[in-house]
Amino acid sequence: MDQSGVTAEARKNPWGSVGPAAPTCPLTEVMSEQLATQLDEENSSFSAVSSPEVDLLLEDGPDTTSDLMLAQMLQMQFDREFDDQLRREERKFNGDSKVSISFENYRMVHPYEDSDSSEDEVDWQDTRHDPYRADKPQTTPRRGFSGKGKNITTKHDEVTCGRKNTARMDNFAPEVQVGDGLGMDLKLSNQVFNSLKQHCYSEQRRSARLHEKKEHSTAEQAVDPRTRLLMYKMVNAGVLENINGCISTGKESVVFHADGGRLEEQPVPGEVVLKVFKTTLNEFKNRDRYIKDDYRFKDRFSKLNPRKVIRLWAEKEMHNLSRMKKAGIPVPDVVLLKKHILVMSFIGKDHIPAPKLKDAMLSSEDMKTAYYQVLQLMQQLYQECHLVHADLSEYNMLWYQEKVWLIDVSQSVEPTHPHGLEFLFRDCRNVSTFFQKRGVAEAMSVYELFNAVTGLNVPVGAEDEADFMSEIVALEKRNEDHIQKRGKKTFPVTSEDGGPPLKPDTDD
Ligand code: ADP
Ligand code: MG
Repeated sequence: MDQSGVTAEARKNPWGSVGPAAPTCPLTEVMSEQLATQLDEENSSFSAVSSPEVDLLLEDGPDTTSDLMLAQMLQMQFDREFDDQLRREERKFNGDSKVSISFENYRMVHPYEDSDSSEDEVDWQDTRHDPYRADKPQTTPRRGFSGKGKNITTKHDEVTCGRKNTARMDNFAPEVQVGDGLGMDLKLSNQVFNSLKQHCYSEQRRSARLHEKKEHSTAEQAVDPRTRLLMYKMVNAGVLENINGCISTGKESVVFHADGGRLEEQPVPGEVVLKVFKTTLNEFKNRDRYIKDDYRFKDRFSKLNPRKVIRLWAEKEMHNLSRMKKAGIPVPDVVLLKKHILVMSFIGKDHIPAPKLKDAMLSSEDMKTAYYQVLQLMQQLYQECHLVHADLSEYNMLWYQEKVWLIDVSQSVEPTHPHGLEFLFRDCRNVSTFFQKRGVAEAMSVYELFNAVTGLNVPVGAEDEADFMSEIVALEKRNEDHIQKRGKKTFPVTSEDGGPPLKPDTDD
């Protein structure tokens, strides 16, 4: 501290008054200043390994008092221990669960910020860190040597090189065990380092291959990392409170139960389901015709890569659900569509999903009620929504609050789809067979049901299925010709565009 300047200033004072004597510097202050310097030094070696945020915290400038610094260091130590504990709890909490919950937000020290807040997909391959690229600049000057005269040290110097190689082991992938060599003054020759590096490369490739296989196989039962990330983001954004567990794993989708969170534009139900359309494409290949020939999606289908086709399925389910909802058909409410994940309201209560019609234990009276509801649903679907479910069966109808609810409508098409009426006929067969088997005497035959739903008077005749089918195919053909005459349709369509097929007697 420069006290002399202060006293000189006081003497020059034009008012002639003598300034107060300069305070003597107490010993404790001198001691604390020394302590501060000492801590500063310790701190600089500390900050070399600390995170950027912590550095910022500690680089408070020369005014930092020792107490503050000590407090900060203690706090940091505390935070680290807290984070370690949190990490252990996170690991324990998640266990082998397929969906893991991150405790990241509760951490005190955040060494890595999630840079991917954008909507873009994270390409896992691209973001992979190259472990062999030196992060730090070379310490040898550009000219390739340092020192003078006989003390000259070139970049090829065995000791420098050896130490540098040892330090570079730090850049190996985290799973590579490098022992405690890093802490020692170990000099690795280029030859040894290179073979180590080579070994790591091949190990990493091997493990990546294994990992990839594992991911693919788990995707059969649950979801892949991309999907997990999307689901995690939904929780992080507060749309979902919690993802609880898997309700069903089908061929084309995995359905999860979750607790609803908040969305700005609309209320989110307390219980929701996430329908994750599978990104393994094998099963979808044979479903192409549901979407390829659906003129609403036709133009887009041909231009898309397979992953985007999956998203189209989710989108299709969303559109179909909305259309049905508008007509008053009991279906889940759409909450959100995010890529290939559709969030919708949960049909059921307290984590217990409503039973499928196949599993519902209904009295004969209720079964009869259910039948008439299904008949009405099918008529409404066809005549008001201009849709054919195309996968209607006791597996895709739920029984909840004395009502039949329709689900699984991603494959639903308009009746004017080139195979729409064939799909409807199949639906009718499933419905009629199911209710007849369950003893509903009023259940119509498949032919009667088809005519009752469509209002088409396809002659039933001798009830020969082949005859009936050829009538249906002929109708589909007439419709297709008619559509072609009317011109190409584009998505989305108004209800007028998507009207039911022409009646056999319609003059076109
Ligand atoms: P998939 O195409 O795999 O058959 P679904 O939409 O039929 O997919 O869903 C599979 C199962 O998940 C259903 O049988 C039903 O038990 C359950 N499920 C689907 N959606 C809901 C929902 N909104 N509420 C309750 N359970 C549902
Ligand atoms: Mg289903």
